[in-house]
Amino acid sequence: MRPSSWSLVAGTLTLLVGVGLVAEWVWGAEPGAPSAEAVKARLTELRAELARLDAAQRQRQAWRLWGATRLLGEGRPAEALQVARGVKPSAWTVLVAGDLTGIVEQAGQGIRLVGLYDSAAEQALSASTPLPLFLVTLRHAQNRQELKVSAEAGWKQAVVQASQDPARAELRWREPLESQLAGLEVTATVDLDAQTGQFDWTLRVENAPAPWALWRVVFPQLAVPKLGAEGRLFFPKAAGEVQAGVWDWAFRFSGTYPSGWTTMQFLAAYNAKGGLYVGVHDPWGSTKDLVAESRPAEKLVTLRFDQPVADMGVPGNRFQTRSVWRVLRGDWFDAAVIYRQWVRREARWFPKLGADGREDTPLWTRQLAVWALGGGPPAGFLPQLKEFAGYLGTPVAVHWYNWHQIPFDNDYPHYFPTHPGFAEAVQQIQSEGVFVMPYINGRLWDTRDKGMEDYQFRTVARPSVTKNEKLEPYVETYGSKEKDGSPVRLGVMCPATALWQNKVRDTVLRLFTECGVKGVYIDQVAAAAPTLCFDRTHGHPVGGGHWWTEGYWKMLEAIRKQKPADCMITTECNGEPYIHLFDGYLTWHWQYDGQVPAFPAVYGGAVQMFGRSYGGGPTRDLALRMRAGQQLVFGEQLGWINPGVVKEKGNAEFFRQLVRLRRVLSRYFYAGEMARPPRLVGQIPTVKADWQWHGVDWVTTEAVLGGAWHQPAARKLVLVFVNVSDAPLSATVEYELSPYGFVQKEVRLRQVTEAGPGSEHAIQNPLRRAATFPARSGVAWEITPP
Ligand SMILES: [Zn+2]
Repeated sequence: MRPSSWSLVAGTLTLLVGVGLVAEWVWGAEPGAPSAEAVKARLTELRAELARLDAAQRQRQAWRLWGATRLLGEGRPAEALQVARGVKPSAWTVLVAGDLTGIVEQAGQGIRLVGLYDSAAEQALSASTPLPLFLVTLRHAQNRQELKVSAEAGWKQAVVQASQDPARAELRWREPLESQLAGLEVTATVDLDAQTGQFDWTLRVENAPAPWALWRVVFPQLAVPKLGAEGRLFFPKAAGEVQAGVWDWAFRFSGTYPSGWTTMQFLAAYNAKGGLYVGVHDPWGSTKDLVAESRPAEKLVTLRFDQPVADMGVPGNRFQTRSVWRVLRGDWFDAAVIYRQWVRREARWFPKLGADGREDTPLWTRQLAVWALGGGPPAGFLPQLKEFAGYLGTPVAVHWYNWHQIPFDNDYPHYFPTHPGFAEAVQQIQSEGVFVMPYINGRLWDTRDKGMEDYQFRTVARPSVTKNEKLEPYVETYGSKEKDGSPVRLGVMCPATALWQNKVRDTVLRLFTECGVKGVYIDQVAAAAPTLCFDRTHGHPVGGGHWWTEGYWKMLEAIRKQKPADCMITTECNGEPYIHLFDGYLTWHWQYDGQVPAFPAVYGGAVQMFGRSYGGGPTRDLALRMRAGQQLVFGEQLGWINPGVVKEKGNAEFFRQLVRLRRVLSRYFYAGEMARPPRLVGQIPTVKADWQWHGVDWVTTEAVLGGAWHQPAARKLVLVFVNVSDAPLSATVEYELSPYGFVQKEVRLRQVTEAGPGSEHAIQNPLRRAATFPARSGVAWEITPP
């Protein structure tokens, strides 16, 4: 038995002595095994003993309780009793990082996770049947046969090497039993941070012997047990979404990152006591699938990051990834703050921020409060825009579709010529305070790009289109049709190719110079997931990796370098890793029941978010108020709405009120950051409307929506409330101000409305304030030091 297998990564001298004394003890050798009842009684005592220890001691000893509980659950009472006594099985290594305790076991031909525990909340964070720590798929380069190896089995050597440094351990898998894979090595190091309760993993997979090559790696993956009746799951769909009770029903979230529906790289499961944050902290934004899936029969939810390897299937490739598991205190907002701290430190796409936020974004863009949506030939559209801008009385931007003569989603990317008079119309309307942003697509080339004819697809585009493993182009269809009624088939262009980078750049610059527009919208870049392109002539690693994001970065950097300084560029949706190169993200798809503003919590102030798709239907007026209210508290620029809304009296008045309030508060959104949304105490009813995102889509929210935004440097905080219902509502607002630097017993509160700031007065800190929110109205409370 190697000495290292006895050592504790974070243990105590007492324990080591204890282990030494019973070194000859053998599992199950005692004739009279204790009854389960006796062990349970012992565990109750142990729980009480642990409760009497100080926090640091309890953290170090917690493994005894949790390890014994797990063994008892497996029908091994004798072993459970030994563990409860502090006798650590020789195959176990205990990993302790503050409140987070993990036990890993060298078992059979691998290493398995015995358990993951929150010792302060006394809560298991891994299910009794944990998933293997990793799963690697390899492929034979010639015959494409696949082999899989996991952390739990198939290795002659699998050891946990405790380091001299008690805050680090290394897990090594060597010598696969499968002789074809001889040489393959997997190494996981884990750094344990006591202060934050964090395991920081780095996983490396290397030396796959040719002709075998790495294909995909699943890491991390965890099975989280039901966290009580109040258990919740956060997943990064669009703005972010929280679902309760997913352990009890067939739930599945999956998507390829980066995209509009898998926007960030973290998941969280929690209840009121605590929970777990699981993130992949990949600063390049590599392609990966995120999956959160329930197994109701087992009352668990699996969390998995399934990552295609760069140069997948090419012998000699290797893989490395980093994952952070942290004890979570709080909820989705706290999980978002953990992720925010990381992106600010390390993510390649986090922009440089000045005192006024994105100083590389024109101030007019940062201050915008509202967007109109429409298009077509100028003659019909201009009068609507003028009426819209005139009614709102603030600067307005317009997303102008169909400014070109080609049909929508057809004959791309041949956007020119424009409709006659477009440049003149742009000049005229912009002189009246309406900023014009035309649409182009940043990703597609029509395979029949001149009516029914293949004009340049085969000769120009095809070499630079993304291709699957058979080197067939990735082709997509949307709603658009060719003249004969057949669907328009659009090739997905490879962002790593100079042809596509230059094509998009030239189109954007032409719009700025020839048409004088102040912005260009480049569709799909932050919406559509990367393809796994296997065309080696493009010069990028095939399949997975981060060549996709880097290709777009190169394209967008060239545009930013050459565009006029007072012009901006935006894209669709909010896949995160392009933020530094866009001025705005169109959040039109933030339409989901249960959505929370996790994305604004991470990126508020780092990119301007704008726009929701506004639908129709019998409840459209309430849905309009819910959307506009949510946009305001989430920190988005409002609208992306048909300018004809100004003819609908009730909707127009409500919308204008929020637009003007947003304008008054704009600095919070572009130079500040999101703070924890306020909690309303009292009987707040909910409202429910059909948002008509995809057919009938019911969304329920509280009738009073609340948000909070902070300007740390200016020492100002604002709480924003919107009552979207038809009745006045009274509630008490409770808010903890100290996290935002307000430590005095009294602070100043000033009510802010669309008309601007009102009078200010002193209030007690912590804030607890009764208020009545009038029907269909928005209000803000600005907090400043005394
Ligand atoms: Zn490619």
